[in-house]
Amino acid sequence: MERIIAVANQKGGVGKTTTAINLSACLAEMGKHVLAIDLDPQGNTTSGLGVDKDEKENTVYELLLGESTVEECIVPTVCEGLDLIPSNVNLSGAEIELMGTEEKEFILKKQIDLVKKSYDYIIIDCPPALSMLTINAMTTASSVLVPIQCEYYALEGLSQLMYTIDLVHERLNPELILEGVVFTMYDARTNLSLQVVENVKSNLNQNIYKTIIPRNVRLAEAPSHGLPITLYDSRSTGAESYRMLAEEVVEYGKNE
Ligand code: ADP
Ligand code: MG
Repeated sequence: MERIIAVANQKGGVGKTTTAINLSACLAEMGKHVLAIDLDPQGNTTSGLGVDKDEKENTVYELLLGESTVEECIVPTVCEGLDLIPSNVNLSGAEIELMGTEEKEFILKKQIDLVKKSYDYIIIDCPPALSMLTINAMTTASSVLVPIQCEYYALEGLSQLMYTIDLVHERLNPELILEGVVFTMYDARTNLSLQVVENVKSNLNQNIYKTIIPRNVRLAEAPSHGLPITLYDSRSTGAESYRMLAEEVVEYGKNE
């Protein structure tokens, strides 16, 4: 059975896109067949996987508006075994254009249902909002992975996110579970990172991944080269930590 994971947190800059790109790349490196879906108008997952976002005519925007088929939207990436449905700034208009559309919470799901059998993993990078796009990701997904940045306000907004996941589970997608939270940008030189991890662990009664993603400059550099960390600097601590996360994600799936 394929697993569809939405990477979500309504806060910006917490490591969603970095996690979506590199988790996808590491799963592909393990020999899995992976589809990444860029659901953020910023298109950073698209460019980060070496795909020119402004050149593409068949993006997730055309997919949601019913102007392109899902097969037309899927493109290969720099990684073997990793496909992508790209996004660009056009997507920022989708929310308004889809107003009044019937069953608009399920538009993405209906399309992905047509191709999901071809993949082992589908990873959806969500925009930084609890918007209709994020709801579409959550109705499509089987689980939600929440990156939490190791900074002072880490817990802020988290209860709202959990509540949204619960609501979607109750009303729209009974299969949806919280995959777990993963700490990102951990800085071993500061006490703050450690305190945040301790604090979240004691306040959050949820699966927390053992792998903690460190702050690593190579992870921040890789997107400007259009490469995931596995191809940009395969031996970096960033690459090693995302490999460990991918292994944990695979293991976790076996227990479900
Ligand atoms: P989001 O998608 O949640 O907005 P991003 O993944 O785009 O967050 O990350 C925000 C910024 O932090 C980006 O510039 C990214 O390159 C950088 N970044 C993310 N994770 C790390 C990390 N582990 N180490 C260093 N920089 C990181
Ligand atoms: Mg992002």
